[in-house]
Amino acid sequence: MPTFEYAPAPESSSIVDIKASYGLFVNGEFVDGTDGSPFKTVNPASEQVLAEIAEAGPADVDRAVKAARSAYQKVWRDMAGAERAKYLYRIARIVQERSRELAVLESIDNGKPIRESRDVDLPLVAAHFFYYAGWADKLGHAGLGPDPRPLGVAAQVIPWNFPLLMLAWKIAPALACGNTVVLKPAETTPLTALAFAEICQQADLPPGVVNIVTGAGPTGRALVEHDDVDKVAFTGSTEVGRAIAKAVAGSNKKVTLELGGKAANIVFDDAALDQAVEGIVNGIFFNQGHVCCAGSRLLVQESVYDELLAKLKRRMSLLRVGDPLDKNTDIGAINSSAQLERIRALSEIGESEGASRWTAPCPLPERGYWFAPTLFTGVSQAHRIAREEIFGPVLSVLTFRTPAEAVEKANNTPYGLSAGVWTEKGSRILWLADRLRAGVVWANTFNKFDPSSPFGGYKESGYGREGGRHGLEAYLAL
Ligand code: NDP
Repeated sequence: MPTFEYAPAPESSSIVDIKASYGLFVNGEFVDGTDGSPFKTVNPASEQVLAEIAEAGPADVDRAVKAARSAYQKVWRDMAGAERAKYLYRIARIVQERSRELAVLESIDNGKPIRESRDVDLPLVAAHFFYYAGWADKLGHAGLGPDPRPLGVAAQVIPWNFPLLMLAWKIAPALACGNTVVLKPAETTPLTALAFAEICQQADLPPGVVNIVTGAGPTGRALVEHDDVDKVAFTGSTEVGRAIAKAVAGSNKKVTLELGGKAANIVFDDAALDQAVEGIVNGIFFNQGHVCCAGSRLLVQESVYDELLAKLKRRMSLLRVGDPLDKNTDIGAINSSAQLERIRALSEIGESEGASRWTAPCPLPERGYWFAPTLFTGVSQAHRIAREEIFGPVLSVLTFRTPAEAVEKANNTPYGLSAGVWTEKGSRILWLADRLRAGVVWANTFNKFDPSSPFGGYKESGYGREGGRHGLEAYLAL
């Protein structure tokens, strides 16, 4: 059979203008950090340094919180909802106008394929601002009480897997509800948050309503522990989420935590297998598997195991790993050398515990951080690769015989963020959705997101919901 070769189709990076160094965004302007040491952000696909970034120390964090408090009291809290909405609409439109630039910047700093930053992340970022702009003057009709009020200053800490999208998930509802924010992006992916700061200036957002403090864990800690924040919103690892919950316990801070996951993607023998294979691939290899709701545990009904696995391996062999800016790339670079080490270590543990490893044959670039799509068979529920979040392109395959066994196995995890079900029978989908302890259950699809749909977890996946009408509740005093 003839095969088609792909010619390189790189997106030009000339549209982005990365400065040599960046300051903090406080009270509407970029300022130097005063008590931190600057750090570098690198392109994970080439290991090249992109820029030097200011680190916010405790004094800088304090300055940002003061700016947010002042903007809250003097401008934002009492502004009519319809006026706040105008700023959010304006931001959404500027994001759309600059979407190509932002997508390229995201792919350069994060390593994700341009196809994904362009077609998934950026459209969703704009959609979140549009969606919450619509709520800003209707908060009294959200079913959350007749007179919901903002909380005050929100401290928001986000991870590196969807840098700009996580920023949108946090900032859009906070602002729509009348809060002001101080946001800390992840250390390895600060550039799109800093570009967003420029967008706030372009939109004439009143100074202090959005403040961006860059840095690593200590900056995040100083922010969430600051006495004058009213709300903490965190997305990241369960370990850090737990530390934050302890740190704010006993304070009046309202908290939402969106943590890890180990989702089951369950395939029944009556499912359309070719579609299921696409959903499995999307579930675990989308964004290099750096997705909290990734379908990292595949549960296959025994009767279709051989057929499904053969199809899956064939499909995985066609995945293209490489240059994130190439429009043909399916899987980009792993975000950091530290994350690559974690993925390697857990994969080696999988082998040493007795699971069989299969890696798709694909060439990997010489420089940068890469991990070929991998699956493990012969996995038991006790294996660490079936229990721990690998957060990389690694799939663990388990089998089941009956629907009841599928539910038992799917729920046998400390997490509860998402799940997928593949079957032709609507009644079986509903039966399972009732029993799966997961915040989101996708049926015959996976990794679908919409700003109007709430997202969040059970158990160690955290608490609170982001998105939709439910996402307003996290930012309102009722
Ligand atoms: P972290 O939870 O460490 O990082 C998330 C954010 O919290 C980052 O901005 C981080 O800063 C910041 N942070 C770190 N320590 C503190 C603290 N004590 N107080 C306040 N903020 C803090 O995730 P990692 O990046 O280290 O990833 C580790 C693992 O977490 C991954 O392998 C993955 O399993 C999981 N993870 C889950 C995510 C999810 O969406 N559920 C997202 C990211 C990671 P900085 O980045 O500078 O360290």
